Amino acid sequence: MNCLTAPAPVERGAALEERAVLRERGQHEVFCGLTGIIWLHRKIQDAFFLVVGSRTCAHLIQSAAGVMIFAEPRFGTAIIEERDLAGLADMNAELDRAVTSLLERRPEIKILFLVGSCPSEVIKLDLSRAAARLSETCSPDVRVFSYSGSGIETTFTQGEDACLAALVPALPQEPVAAEASLMVVGALPDVVEDQFRRLFDALGVGPVGFLPPRQSGALPAVGPQTRFLLAQPFLDTTARALEKRGASPITAPFPMGAEGTTAWLLAAAELWGVSRERFEDVTAPGRERAKRALQRHRERLAGKRVFFFPDSQLEIPLARFLARELEMELVEVGTPYLRQDHMAPELALLPPDVVVSEGQHVDKQIERCREARPDLVVCGLGLANPFEADGITTKWSIELVFSPIHGYEQAGDLAELFARPLDRRSRLEV
Ligand code: SF4
Repeated sequence: MNCLTAPAPVERGAALEERAVLRERGQHEVFCGLTGIIWLHRKIQDAFFLVVGSRTCAHLIQSAAGVMIFAEPRFGTAIIEERDLAGLADMNAELDRAVTSLLERRPEIKILFLVGSCPSEVIKLDLSRAAARLSETCSPDVRVFSYSGSGIETTFTQGEDACLAALVPALPQEPVAAEASLMVVGALPDVVEDQFRRLFDALGVGPVGFLPPRQSGALPAVGPQTRFLLAQPFLDTTARALEKRGASPITAPFPMGAEGTTAWLLAAAELWGVSRERFEDVTAPGRERAKRALQRHRERLAGKRVFFFPDSQLEIPLARFLARELEMELVEVGTPYLRQDHMAPELALLPPDVVVSEGQHVDKQIERCREARPDLVVCGLGLANPFEADGITTKWSIELVFSPIHGYEQAGDLAELFARPLDRRSRLEV
């Protein structure tokens, strides 16, 4: 089983109206959706992620989240052995036994995610039925959900989308006469969540809920009075599930960099009727701190040429940030999927002549990249080493998903993530 594989992207018929998009359909080189467990298990503190998969899946998660060796981890793998493949009935019984013993040992677990993998899909193990069965038989305090993180169905960041979408049906219904509320959607480090909460409070926007929450008891309510703001650009399925429950999206650029953060906050503030003066007063200190933090990185990055391979779905907002706030030159911006209604405000901010590509054809993209000889390539781990060996500086896109990069206070750190590999290269050359 290739763990750097992914399904072919869904063909979308509608053409972009304002920007030509190069559509690539070929070989992929991306991680599977199990990767999302690495940041999700840190976020939801009373959740456990049980991958139902092979030793390969266990190895992927353990090596990627290796820092957890110091604590009892909130993820694990129920290994599908060869003998399990012989009989699904036994497999279900074994899964029930594994879950019961896990919950007995770990009474602090309140949400259990059964995470599907390539092997569980191949043997057609129905994890949604298993989750329903286990929800009934487990402790009444534990809710069991399922989603797929398999490389057949999901790429890298789609695991988070599938996980959050699985939670949406369990969100409490907002009360009948509820006032308008805001839901921020996408896993954010706690420190960033707190910063955003303080800003929304100061603006008078709210009440504000976050999905995913830190604790299962804080699942935000949803209904027709809920407006939701995506904090991450890869949450298409979750957005649709929220819309089905009556919530409405607020479309805005994503909160990366000072400009994106301001536009994101403003989109909510306008809906809540916040005056321009109040908005300026609340956001000015953050904007000022971000501006100062970006200054020294701009000196390092301005004029440098950057090429994005499609990987995390963060590529378009990051490219916008690098071009507009750090004056970098964009050679090509690849994204694995392009949902135009979520991405339209971002696309409108990209320089008009930049090549935007959707999907992956890794050979062709490598060829274009080598020809362009950019100063920096943002790509997955599998491509980084060969490029580095060729003297092309790379940034691992996975690091951008693990690191706190949203909001004013993180704008400087985000810029530094791109400046660091260039500094390292120049030190090596010296
Ligand atoms: S889910 Fe599939 S692609 Fe991901 S680690 Fe397991 S076998 Fe590999």
